[in-house]
Amino acid sequence: MASVELDKVTKQFSDGTVAIKDASFTIADGEFFILVGPSGCGKSTLLHMIVGLEETSSGEIRVNGQMINHLDPKDRNMALVFQSYALYPHMSVRENIAFPLIMAKVSKPEIIRRVEETAAILELSLLLDSKPRILSGGQRQRVAIGRAIVRNPEVFLLDEPLSNLDARLRNQMRIELARLHKRLGTTTLYVTHDQTEAMTLGDRLAILNKGVIQQIGTPFELYQQPCNLFVAGFMGSPA
Ligand code: ADP
Ligand code: MG
Repeated sequence: MASVELDKVTKQFSDGTVAIKDASFTIADGEFFILVGPSGCGKSTLLHMIVGLEETSSGEIRVNGQMINHLDPKDRNMALVFQSYALYPHMSVRENIAFPLIMAKVSKPEIIRRVEETAAILELSLLLDSKPRILSGGQRQRVAIGRAIVRNPEVFLLDEPLSNLDARLRNQMRIELARLHKRLGTTTLYVTHDQTEAMTLGDRLAILNKGVIQQIGTPFELYQQPCNLFVAGFMGSPA
């Protein structure tokens, strides 16, 4: 289990673009935390700094109080699910889910045990020997989530994981993600541009606009007491 703390984290790309400016927040151990904001506001950049795919320009990222800014991504014990969840097409569902364990040189019996456990949680047990191409969009996304959680990460990060699904599947996956979080209790950072997801999925949310966090709170707090017009507009607060 893990808490994640950002302290004045800033990212300026080499072309001068400031994608994130002085982002500070703490995700509590076991919390489902949402980062929401319009396209291009810096959400993916922030996630990439947390998992170590991008360096921070300044500020600190801490897990359980320990600074991790310079830790290699593979040593961060985090798992990221991308928006375009590319599965390996030539591999079965079983092999796709097992892949991170094989890379981590986990023993074969342990791999078998963990893949089957993960498949059971995600209701993929009957599909383990299928190839991705015969799966529905929702099933594929569940495989991508399985591949991410199979290593029991301390922190689970999702970057607009449902945006390629149709509305019906999105609703279904929302319910499944909430159930998964209840069951595993993993500290989760969920990124979306979708207001409904932001209002219904998380414990608390941070609203991001143009690289700057506008406000952090529960959906109710932000709806009732938006700190500015942007938050009010985003939450649909009464005027
Ligand atoms: P979001 O995920 O919210 O859509 P991004 O984090 O992808 O936003 O992008 C935030 C801003 O940073 C955008 O203006 C984008 O063009 C810019 N950006 C992202 N990656 C790079 C990069 N490698 N170099 C320069 N600018 C980038
Ligand atoms: Mg993005």
